[in-house]
Amino acid sequence: MHLSEILTHFGEERKNYFNAVAPPVIQSSNFAFDNIADFRKAISDELNHHLYTRGNNPTVEILRKKVAALEGAEDALIVASGAGAIAMAIMANIKTGDHIVCVQSPYSWTKNLLAGYLPRFGVSHTFVDGRYLEEIEKAIRPETSVLFLESPNSMTFELQDLRGCAQIAKRHGLVSIIDNANCSPIFQRPIEHGIDLVVHTGTKYLNGHSDVVNGVVCGSKKMIQKIFSSEMMTLGNIISPHDAWLIIRGLRTLEMRVKKSFESALKIAEWLERHPKIEKVLFPFLPSFPQFELAKKQMDGCAGLFTVFLKTEKIEVAEAFFAKLKRFLFAVSWGGHESLVVPTAAFYNVPGKEPPPYPVNMLRFYVGLEDPDWLIADLEEALKVV
Ligand SMILES: *Cc1c(COP(=O)(O)O)cnc(C)c1O
Repeated sequence: MHLSEILTHFGEERKNYFNAVAPPVIQSSNFAFDNIADFRKAISDELNHHLYTRGNNPTVEILRKKVAALEGAEDALIVASGAGAIAMAIMANIKTGDHIVCVQSPYSWTKNLLAGYLPRFGVSHTFVDGRYLEEIEKAIRPETSVLFLESPNSMTFELQDLRGCAQIAKRHGLVSIIDNANCSPIFQRPIEHGIDLVVHTGTKYLNGHSDVVNGVVCGSKKMIQKIFSSEMMTLGNIISPHDAWLIIRGLRTLEMRVKKSFESALKIAEWLERHPKIEKVLFPFLPSFPQFELAKKQMDGCAGLFTVFLKTEKIEVAEAFFAKLKRFLFAVSWGGHESLVVPTAAFYNVPGKEPPPYPVNMLRFYVGLEDPDWLIADLEEALKVV
């Protein structure tokens, strides 16, 4: 199906609601039946009928259809957060005694799920350098059931060879899961490479306006049904119809937002790389990136996220540079309209916290929808203090 069809029409049945161009927010917790036969049908297949909004709501269902189509998946679930989507996809595929192989620097709460939470239930894990297929294969044990990927990740952007990973997972009977938030389905569709489940934080690009937290899981009908009837219905990890409606609205411009963010980030990353006060820039589509060839092979672009190392070892200099930036908001997250910066320095000297595994001169930028030249002018001013 054409991307334009998905974003503009697919999943919407306008004749059911007065041919309104925008879908309605069906703000209802439950749905009534005309007769017992229909009631019975809905009870037998709650995922595909309208019985109760914890299971399936018509507004959320429009979004679900669009997201599944975007990833080339048979079905999808829309949930309350990206972290929740990750947890559900993993937990549906493990039991006590199982082992998970995961890339070594996943999203922080993925790491916490594996290292801090699942050990309580007797599930172990190994973090591996996912850049090397041999490392992944070496970590697999007889009790391994899940291979968890994130390509690229969100601070240093290491990639995994998705086709190679899918083949390893198939050979060892593992469920392969990928956090595909960075590329979004516009730039990378892991199911086409043979990955079983794709999870996203829709908080980032899918919604794209920094006003909703949500997550999605995409996969085969069978796998989605399994997650639905265990984790989803039991843990009640759902979003409101109104939030789903906002994300549908966000999706109308997904393609143009993601492309603009990528192109602007590439332009700024290239400019920074040439600047004498910059030691190094990490961005998957810079020719200097160690996995540039793999990026070109399996991705059509990437998120407007890059990481910069200033030519300094002093935390005061990094802080002074950061403080001079006027056009980047100082905030976590990414994927919205607004450009952002997260300085590693902020994670140093936090009472009760270990310092991060990154140096003080490192800053992670996100480029939103502003004019890239206007952002470059801001960086140029701030770099004067370095
Ligand atoms: C933000 C993020 C998450 C978590 O998503 P939430 O919607 O905040 O729960 C997971 N993975 C990646 C790569 C992220 O950037």
